[in-house]
Amino acid sequence: MEISKELQDAINDQINFELYSGYIYLSMAAYFESINLSGMAHWMKIQAGEEYEHAMRFWEHVSDRGGRVTLTEIKAPATQWDSPQAAFENAYEHEKIVTGRIFKIGELAKKLGDKSAIPMLNWFYKEQVEEEEQTQRIAGLLKQIGDQKGALFMLDQKLGAREK
Ligand code: MG
Repeated sequence: MEISKELQDAINDQINFELYSGYIYLSMAAYFESINLSGMAHWMKIQAGEEYEHAMRFWEHVSDRGGRVTLTEIKAPATQWDSPQAAFENAYEHEKIVTGRIFKIGELAKKLGDKSAIPMLNWFYKEQVEEEEQTQRIAGLLKQIGDQKGALFMLDQKLGAREK
């Protein structure tokens, strides 16, 4: 079934938001580089790549169903955070917003009786649990680490080993 205009518009808006998410994480990567935490910068660059993939997953859904993808201006991200912990807490808060937005798309699909969007949305519900868990866990570790430099560098090294 061809995608409705209403759902298409909501997904196009989410494509923008996923790209914006990636832009925030790239900005966090630049912040981490500026304070010599190259492992965390690497982690954020990989995360930004994931956001691009999320945007493309929504894109393919619109495109596969005869819809029209439209791109709009991406908001500028913050460029500075008070601490690594603050950056990861920001990432966690941001992911909760993303989850809420995807829930809204799900509610819209349900209201429209659009069952074709459900498998794609189900994938995102599962993915968001992971996104929230990762950022929350790292923010929690950073809170525990506090100002212990040795532990901070160990975590940085660990995050630098992220492959995907
Ligand atoms: Mg995402």
